[in-house]
Amino acid sequence: MNYVEPSSITELMNYVTTVEDYRCLAGGATLVAMMNVGLVEPELLISLHKLDELKGMRIDQNVIRIGAMTTHTAITDEDRLTGNASLVRSAAGQIAHSAVRNMGTIGGAISHADPSADFPAALTAANATIEVLGPSGRRVIQIDDFFVNYLETSLTEKEIVMAIMVPLSPADAIGHHLKFSRVDGDYATVSVSLALAMEGRICSYARIAVGSVAAVPLRLKEADDILIGSNLEESEIARASELLLKSSDPIDDVRGSSSYRKFLIPRLIRQAVLQSKKELSYT
Ligand SMILES: Cc1cc2nc3c(=O)[nH]c(=O)nc-3n(C[C@H](O)[C@H](O)[C@H](O)COP(=O)(O)OP(=O)(O)OC[C@H]3O[C@@H](n4cnc5c(N)ncnc54)[C@H](O)[C@@H]3O)c2cc1C
Repeated sequence: MNYVEPSSITELMNYVTTVEDYRCLAGGATLVAMMNVGLVEPELLISLHKLDELKGMRIDQNVIRIGAMTTHTAITDEDRLTGNASLVRSAAGQIAHSAVRNMGTIGGAISHADPSADFPAALTAANATIEVLGPSGRRVIQIDDFFVNYLETSLTEKEIVMAIMVPLSPADAIGHHLKFSRVDGDYATVSVSLALAMEGRICSYARIAVGSVAAVPLRLKEADDILIGSNLEESEIARASELLLKSSDPIDDVRGSSSYRKFLIPRLIRQAVLQSKKELSYT
């Protein structure tokens, strides 16, 4: 296996377009473990560490652009992730433990597309878009179209995630990522991500995504629409939860059975909505 560290996007794309069997190395938290057990053995490992364009965060027209190589720790520490985007910060801070958060990157996390991971659901609820680069140039993918199946994204073979764009608005929204896991630092058995805003006692904005209950994050516009315009009473939360529950298709694995996950879905949604409602009523 060969290893390279391109320092420009042109150099990166030269490797990507000329080598058939390559893998991009971001934090390495997952990829190196997969290589260690022989699950993947690329001919060429392309480190993304020297590419400045993939680093850092900047705000442009009320959208925060998070470079693909930004670590979970940097996102947890970023106080410009406010309003709707606070959801992403909430999720980052709950990933694994500090050693993994210092290594793992947001680009690596979404490219791997593990439905139990925290960012897929959080970025879905935050209505993010993904900027990608491939041999035919750049394009932007809506988060709802990015995750297509278990460990599968809509990235074409030679495309690379450059950045994740997260709207800061609604600025008066708050975002929460609630995660139920067997032990602290584990992947989620079920997670619920919610961005919510209120005008007085009426919900003016809601976007919910449920993680770890299907091959891709589960989001239904119909469920959000039940909450928007309502007082967020128990009956409305229950109706929205019921819709999401019916569309879920959780697997049995070491983190919980399918039926246990179904048991958790309405409970976590209720907790996320009521907690957000309570916080907003004090602002
Ligand atoms: C012990 C442990 C516990 C964990 N717990 C959690 C958890 O609780 N919640 C959670 O969400 N995650 C968890 N993770 C996952 C972790 O946080 C990382 O997000 C994950 O390992 C991938 O990020 P990475 O930067 O390390 O990517 P890498 O391991 O370097 O890469 C992962 C995959 O993505 C590809 N890739 C990387 N960057 C790009 C890019 N820019 N464009 C295209 N493809 C790219 C790589 O080629 C590879 O196929 C855990 C990981 C470990 C090892």
